[in-house]
Amino acid sequence: MASIELKGVEKWFGEVQVIKGVDLAIEEGEFVIFVGPSGCGKSTLLRMIAGLEGTSRGQIMVGDRDATAEPPSKRGLAMVFQSYALYPHMSVAENMGFSLKAAGVKPAERQRQVAEAARALRLEEYLDRRPRDLSGGQRQRVAIGRSIVREPTAFLFDEPLSNLDASLRVEMRYEIAKLHQTLKSTMIYVTHDQIEAMTLADRIVVLSAGKIAQVGTPKELYEHPANLFVAQFIGSPK
Ligand code: ADP
Ligand code: MG
Repeated sequence: MASIELKGVEKWFGEVQVIKGVDLAIEEGEFVIFVGPSGCGKSTLLRMIAGLEGTSRGQIMVGDRDATAEPPSKRGLAMVFQSYALYPHMSVAENMGFSLKAAGVKPAERQRQVAEAARALRLEEYLDRRPRDLSGGQRQRVAIGRSIVREPTAFLFDEPLSNLDASLRVEMRYEIAKLHQTLKSTMIYVTHDQIEAMTLADRIVVLSAGKIAQVGTPKELYEHPANLFVAQFIGSPK
């Protein structure tokens, strides 16, 4: 597990500044959700934490390390992709162990890590199946399982449920909450869905045009929105 800290983080795409000085300390094991309207910079900020986008100014700390200039592979963070990234011709176990195999991890160790991830995601009975023989929710769990086997210090999710239908979204929301309870890992999760944010987060970060509008627990934001933008976004009565 690792804490993650952003210090004066900025992102420019050419002349356009999309992240405008973000300071944020995320504690070890915390579940933090970035919310905000489309185009406010949620994905860019998450991709900067993952190392998929460079940081124009400021610093990104992972634990005690300055990770600002580190490539994604060095950061030890897992970006969770959606279920369509599964290999159709491989079994669930092979899908989950694929990145370990590519990294040269020995079969016995691979099997141990896959079994552990399958336990956390309640996929033990499905390890021999192909993705096409799974339900949408099970496929989504395999996609998460592929990241868990790497034993990342934190998970980064970018709208992982946005392509799912409503009932599956509710099921997966519950799965992700359980996963956080089981693994106790640091999780940063991007969504534009207020209900997802309110039900999953320890703390919510509301972003507006590349800046933090407010940070707080769901209760704090709901009861004491800092301004009208937050109130309207969170759906507070105020
Ligand atoms: P969100 O995830 O909150 O919808 P994004 O982080 O995707 O927002 O985008 C924030 C802003 O940065 C948008 O105005 C978007 O058009 C712009 N942007 C994102 N990626 C790039 C890029 N590679 N080049 C130029 N502009 C980009
Ligand atoms: Mg986005």
